[in-house]
Amino acid sequence: MGVNRTFDAVVVGAGIAGTASAWYLRKEGFSVALLDTHHPGWGASGRNPGFLWLQTKAPGLSMHFSLTCRRFAESLASELPDFGFRSSGGLIIFRDEAYEPVARAFVADRVAAGLPVELLDRPALLDKCPDIGPEVSGAVWNPLDAHQDTRLLLRHLAEGFARSGGTILAPVRADMILVEKDACGGVRLSDGTEIESRIVVVAGGPWSNELLAPFGLAIPYRPTRFEAAETAPAPFRIKPVVSGQSLFRFFTPPGVDASLLPCEPSEKIRPELGFTEQIASYPDGSLQFGCAYEVGSDLDRATVAGQAMACSITCRNFPAVAGLPVIRQWAGIVAQTTDGLPVIDASAGPDGLVINTGHFFGNLAGAFSGRMVADMAAGRLPVYPAAGFSRSRFRPAAA
Ligand SMILES: Cc1cc2nc3c(=O)[nH]c(=O)nc-3n(C[C@H](O)[C@H](O)[C@H](O)COP(=O)(O)OP(=O)(O)OC[C@H]3O[C@@H](n4cnc5c(N)ncnc54)[C@H](O)[C@@H]3O)c2cc1C
Repeated sequence: MGVNRTFDAVVVGAGIAGTASAWYLRKEGFSVALLDTHHPGWGASGRNPGFLWLQTKAPGLSMHFSLTCRRFAESLASELPDFGFRSSGGLIIFRDEAYEPVARAFVADRVAAGLPVELLDRPALLDKCPDIGPEVSGAVWNPLDAHQDTRLLLRHLAEGFARSGGTILAPVRADMILVEKDACGGVRLSDGTEIESRIVVVAGGPWSNELLAPFGLAIPYRPTRFEAAETAPAPFRIKPVVSGQSLFRFFTPPGVDASLLPCEPSEKIRPELGFTEQIASYPDGSLQFGCAYEVGSDLDRATVAGQAMACSITCRNFPAVAGLPVIRQWAGIVAQTTDGLPVIDASAGPDGLVINTGHFFGNLAGAFSGRMVADMAAGRLPVYPAAGFSRSRFRPAAA
């Protein structure tokens, strides 16, 4: 059993949500310990290809919040060392004719939601993305989609946090939250050590429910595995972030029956898998692409079927990718709440408990959620209203 230590705040989980929370809490002047079972960035935050998609957000809170997060990302890029943030714009391309009316419905829905998207024909698409394959007939273009290296962002936040006197404890596992007289007293680690703290931030990604369940606060989310792969540097750059037509079966516009849309043969190898056809260039020229996903799976390893799907369809979308060496393949687990929104809540449980989890689009919302957490811990109204992210929205309404 180790020696007990005392901090103003302890943050459990050093993904983008937890690391940003720790960084902004430290900026408020709190003494802070940031804990991770493995190391900062071990979870989905260190494993995703860094897309900041606005197009995929539903009208309403999801879109409004995401637009705010997008502006915040831009301001972060001017504040922190370079983390590869690019205002690249984004394309959702399609090959099959059957997807053209779907893309049209998608554009109408997103324009109504306030996003400046437009439908591009092939010549207009070639202007934005000359390396696109001959089968691709059109795309939806959104100038606000962007790209970043989330791993690098997380590293800058963690290093800044440590430089400013924050404490990173890893690898350590928080086993339980300690509570006395309805107020947080800290956490107990798996080796029995207790970390005393009146503020406990739970930012454990898909593992957060292990800490929240004893308080009846488990969040109804499904783990979802997303897979990705990386090539060696390519002799060409894909400027926008790109995804493809199968994304419309995940983010389906109103009035469209996704089950009637055609699938590629490789998408039928394992019917459990969905696909998003994403690809982005990194500053060194390497390409990260994917993403096969499986809802309900907590296997954090790439699968043969997931990689087969990604490789075969990526080669059709971008034939020039076909000859590049693949240097790594991996997967990560994301917590998908029933409404796709995170839980950012400081009033769900005992005094001092702050929940910051359930991030499905953490590239956009992760860093910003840390700002909200610090505001709430400091007793201020958060920079963005937290009401829509409360834990209680999942409770059935009273009869
Ligand atoms: C392949 C892939 C593609 C993706 N694509 C996109 C995309 O296009 N756009 C987008 O916005 N997002 C995308 N995501 C999702 C994004 O990565 C997540 O939303 C985000 O990283 C979640 O961050 P987090 O900090 O909540 O959780 P995580 O990054 O999972 O961090 C949680 C951390 O908590 C630690 N932890 C858990 N329990 C404990 C405990 N008891 N004690 C100590 N430590 C603990 C874990 O070790 C982990 O490091 C993708 C993810 C993957 C894997």
